[in-house]
Amino acid sequence: MVITGSWQGRPITISVKRNCLTVSIDDPSRADVLSYDLAGRLWTAFLDGIAYRRGLDGRMLARWRDPGQERSRVWLTPDEALNIESRAYHNIETLYQAVQSGDANLNLALPDEGHIAFQRVIAFDEKRSLADAQRYYEIYQPIGILPPDQYMAVVLQATEGCSFNTCTFCSFYKNRPFRIKPPGEFRQHAQAVKDFLGEGLSLRRTIFLGDANALVVPMPRLLPLIETVHEIYDVESLGGVYAFLDGFSGEKKSAQDYAELNKRGLKRIYIGLESGSMELLRFLKKPGMPDDAVQAVNAMKAGGVAVGVIVLLGVGGHQFAEEHIQETIRVLNAMHLDDDDILYFSNLIVSEDMPYARDAMQAGLKSLTQEECAAQGEAIEQALLLEYGIPKISRYDIREFVY
Ligand code: SF4
Repeated sequence: MVITGSWQGRPITISVKRNCLTVSIDDPSRADVLSYDLAGRLWTAFLDGIAYRRGLDGRMLARWRDPGQERSRVWLTPDEALNIESRAYHNIETLYQAVQSGDANLNLALPDEGHIAFQRVIAFDEKRSLADAQRYYEIYQPIGILPPDQYMAVVLQATEGCSFNTCTFCSFYKNRPFRIKPPGEFRQHAQAVKDFLGEGLSLRRTIFLGDANALVVPMPRLLPLIETVHEIYDVESLGGVYAFLDGFSGEKKSAQDYAELNKRGLKRIYIGLESGSMELLRFLKKPGMPDDAVQAVNAMKAGGVAVGVIVLLGVGGHQFAEEHIQETIRVLNAMHLDDDDILYFSNLIVSEDMPYARDAMQAGLKSLTQEECAAQGEAIEQALLLEYGIPKISRYDIREFVY
């Protein structure tokens, strides 16, 4: 339900949905827009031309674009994040007082669910926000990354870390030994996540089995974990189960295994292919061979599970560029990608502490510019044969990730 009106001489819009409350104050061209989940947590805010996204851990990413510039972003300090929350909170609190007193003119009366949503936001004050973020850290190990279409998932960490942890360009799980959660511990975790999200669960769209490599868990151990997910969550109405599978060595699942998993709600698996070049993968210390990834993808597709394949642009610099393009085209064309699948192009982001930075320096690699990375993606995209259908092709910027 969308309610419009005016308050303090400014237009307002209040949108009460089954999964969130959104309030817009002022003319659309310069409006402050605040969105909350139904537990009362700030989800997104747009204030003074800057877009803020609060993670469940209380951290906040600010993003903006200056005219003619690329998008800028910065993680706020805890105090800065609390200031934004408190500014948003003050707006909501005073607007709700005005709604109740009649000082805000609305074209329709606020429905009961709208009153409940406002009251939950007002109950979610600074103290509650800090306690909520603290609870998050009791339930979760830091969540390294998700594919962009899974940012609104319910993440359940069936495993922790990455079973390989050797890739020189990846620092998501460096200090975390890989382990599979025992069934009892996983059950407790899955229930704790549900209790933590509370009414905010309605904003979540899928279940994502974390961390980097949950699907390396052998079937006899994996199936009971997925059964547990079904016992605690309504998996179908949430949109199914999703997960990463990375580094194609070790235990391999068959098409029948994937069909079994699909029957239990597994919809899509995300694969960090990075490159189709064997030589480049060895340089990156990424385990497995490109043709193993082809086999794995085709087994998934034969089992009825969609895939999201991630290609890293710019990796290996100019020295590997031609081989990277040609071999990645070869490998992608050997995969039976169709309309259900996603092909992600992700630019390499290097920080000084990554082994990749040292290896690249020692090998004298010359980095690609943003434009050259984009051209690399286009060269790959142009050469896709698309014999089985047209996967969605999308960009993936790991710096935008917020859970
Ligand atoms: S296999 Fe994936 S998650 Fe593990 S270290 Fe390599 S890139 Fe990172």
